Amino acid sequence: DERVYVFKKGSSAGRKEMKELLGGKGANLCEMARLGLNVPPGFTITTRVCQDFYKAGGRLPDGVWEEILAAVVEVEAAYGGKFADPADPLLFSVRSGAAVSMPGMMDTVLNLGLNDTVVQGLAAKRGERFAYDCYRRLLDMFGDVVLGIDHALFEAEIHAVKEARGLKLDVELTGEDLKEVVRRFKGVYERAGKSLPSDPYEQMKLAINAVFGSWNTPRAVKYREINRIRGLLGTAVNVQSMVYGNLNDNSGTGVCFTRNPATGEKVLYGEYLPNAQGEDVVAGIRTPLDVAHMADNFPAAYADLVANTTLLEKHMRDMQDCEFTVQDGLLYMLQTRNGKRTGPAALQVAVAMEKEGMVTRDEAVLMVEPRHLDQLLHPMFEGVAKPEYKKAVLGKGLPASPGAAVGKVVFTADDAEKWEKEGEKVILVRLETSPEDVGGMHAAQGILTARGGMTSHAAVVARGWGKPCVCGLDKLQVDYATKTASLAGATLKEGDWLSLNGSTGEVLLGRQPVKAPEMSGTLSVFMEWVDAFRKIGVFTNADTPADAAIARKNGAQGIGLVRTEHMFFATAERISAVRRMIAAEELMEGEGSSAADALAALKVFQREDFEGIFEAMDGLPVTIRLLDPPLHEFLPHEGTAELDALCDALATEMKGRSGQHMSAVRILKSKIHGLQEANPMLGLRGCRLGIRHPDITEMQAKAILEAAVNVSKRGVKALPHIMVPLVGFEEELSHQVRVIRAAAEAVFKAAGASVEYKVGTMIEVPRGALRAGDLATHAEFFSFGTNDLTQMTCGFSRDDAEAKFLPLYVREGILPADPFEELDTSGVGELIKIAVQRGRETRPNLHLGICGEHGGDPKSIEFVSTLVDYVSCSPLRVPIARLAAAQAAI
Ligand code: ADP
Ligand code: MG
Ligand code: MG
Repeated sequence: DERVYVFKKGSSAGRKEMKELLGGKGANLCEMARLGLNVPPGFTITTRVCQDFYKAGGRLPDGVWEEILAAVVEVEAAYGGKFADPADPLLFSVRSGAAVSMPGMMDTVLNLGLNDTVVQGLAAKRGERFAYDCYRRLLDMFGDVVLGIDHALFEAEIHAVKEARGLKLDVELTGEDLKEVVRRFKGVYERAGKSLPSDPYEQMKLAINAVFGSWNTPRAVKYREINRIRGLLGTAVNVQSMVYGNLNDNSGTGVCFTRNPATGEKVLYGEYLPNAQGEDVVAGIRTPLDVAHMADNFPAAYADLVANTTLLEKHMRDMQDCEFTVQDGLLYMLQTRNGKRTGPAALQVAVAMEKEGMVTRDEAVLMVEPRHLDQLLHPMFEGVAKPEYKKAVLGKGLPASPGAAVGKVVFTADDAEKWEKEGEKVILVRLETSPEDVGGMHAAQGILTARGGMTSHAAVVARGWGKPCVCGLDKLQVDYATKTASLAGATLKEGDWLSLNGSTGEVLLGRQPVKAPEMSGTLSVFMEWVDAFRKIGVFTNADTPADAAIARKNGAQGIGLVRTEHMFFATAERISAVRRMIAAEELMEGEGSSAADALAALKVFQREDFEGIFEAMDGLPVTIRLLDPPLHEFLPHEGTAELDALCDALATEMKGRSGQHMSAVRILKSKIHGLQEANPMLGLRGCRLGIRHPDITEMQAKAILEAAVNVSKRGVKALPHIMVPLVGFEEELSHQVRVIRAAAEAVFKAAGASVEYKVGTMIEVPRGALRAGDLATHAEFFSFGTNDLTQMTCGFSRDDAEAKFLPLYVREGILPADPFEELDTSGVGELIKIAVQRGRETRPNLHLGICGEHGGDPKSIEFVSTLVDYVSCSPLRVPIARLAAAQAAI
């Protein structure tokens, strides 16, 4: 294997497919050279050398330096000039570049090869002003990048010289001025106790070592961690002969996109600066000009640029982002890569390129990333690049659920509901949220929490609704007593306007302007293409008719999960009915009539809800999970006034039957205390509840089937799939199935009509997955509840692991990713495979789906796409899941 790849106009052994070995920049420099574009010659040192650099304890592996020297000679022959030769100096740039573009890595050093002698040679050949302009740039960059001298120190010196001369711009500095700048820069080196090696080869070696060394700096490691970049060998190093945009006014440098990266419009889009080197464009001292102006000032170079970028776009089959330099009127290409783009642009470019015949339809489908669609489906803030927006940012938490939310700050779920009823838009600000808060969370425009990670309660619930949420903003201090919060020196009072950007995690003061998502015709064209490739169905998790309707509009083909208990929190009336039911079941044993009353009241609510959902999903399957969470989640916390009031009311209800009021209250309290469990997630929940209280299962089954019968009388086709949660043992399932089937018979008999329905189970207890063959004798379908399955397979309590050790595990490389976000394919995935195989052995037409958070995660979707019939995700993620499923099938 080569370790050093030379590229020069018309030839290179490297090519664009070799990104892993040559890095993105290197592979494309080689490709552009092969295509015959005017690329300054140079060479790429491979990423494998980077790996060996670390194996060798932080130095170049044996023999590499000799290969580099040979490559320098080859470049000299191709380009003219000689490195380190004052008579005809050739200078180099040293540029980093991994397979994935990675800010946080080492910066570029330009004009390498100058020293006090060589600079005089360069001055003699090309002019003094130019030569010393290059030299001061080298001193600055080498000092900053290789030797770690603060760039600001150089800035201060050049500023002082300009000040003394009464100048504003660097370009106004004369040759003499620049000599003075160089003198002062050397002073900066001296004060830092450093020096620029006078041997150009030594400069080159140090710069190359610094690039390799920068691969493992904390900020680079952190960047890879955050962006889940794994499995790379290292960075490549590109050493390239310099071309000079700062030579004179007939020179310049710029960047351009082959299409507008914000909108996708097909125009050459970009900017350039006359008489400048690369870094000046971003440095922002002079305002760059629109690239279209080049047609006037550099007509020949502009024509070349148009021709080259057109060719590159066709060749790369994607929108390109290019760097170029004009030296004395002649255009050089310095970089090309696939351009980063916004969601709207990604969609526009993909559809346009397919229509132009530039890419095939499957390529077009692969060009839009799931996160691009995500952007298209949520309201967004306007002008996020504007200073007004940036100034308003108070802090940044985790981007837990995307979209823009604007509202007035409230600190309790009750206030959120109350204010919303009065027509206010609110942002609910909490230290953290709990299931009791869901009413207020639903009423709020967005949710902000100080604690909790991407899978905290607030995050999961908010994503489920597609409601913006920022969580884990640990700098946020909340004082519930005074209803105030403080963040970055600002105090937030109840009623203050606040804006949340759930896509970035930013929290902003005031009311930031928002724009609605644009559901364009282009999007529907694209989604039609997507669906033609997709092999599995996409269902949704929806608890209300409104959510079901949104999901259906987004293309959901059924409901994979209705969580009946979410409806319980919808109104005060309902939660009170639930509490009475629990009290009757758990606390007032033997008070049969009371239990029956409470259940009857609840059944009415449930039936209404189910009717609404069946109507919204007319003709599509609706999978309804029976009661799942531990009962105490529905009760007020111990020691609260709310609990006192509840016990008081219940005791009043019991009066006459249970003697004295006060003793009844006492008994109730102690029984509620008894409901507390040390380990609720492994406690009395799921089918265990239904077995302990078969009348709850019966009530729910009846509510579902009565609703189905009712709507079918109105011409709606209801397809109820009744799902038993948390099954680990065949006998658990058969018990519940018996109750459900008996309830069905009773409903159909009473109504004199029947509907088709299915009974199935969730697979979320590892034992259930292993015994899937037995479960399938009773279940007509399986739905993998991957949240619980992950929790129980890994033995990680989801609520605690996120805060306590999962981030550490990911950082230390013990886990590749948070298994609650990205399915643990080798562990949990293995159980899914086993269950699919054993289940289908028993029942070949077993219908299979997944309904955990993973149902909306593209990587997880890819994994399950060969195993199950459908994935189910929150309504707003449905299009994303459709795309991910299509991409998995291509
Ligand atoms: P980044 O990845 O930060 O863009 P680059 O390696 O692309 O870093 O270089 C930074 C700037 O220096 C770019 O504007 C680039 O065009 C310019 N540059 C790099 N190499 C050369 C060269 N050989 N001649 C002229 N300009 C160069
Ligand atoms: Mg670049
Ligand atoms: Mg579960």
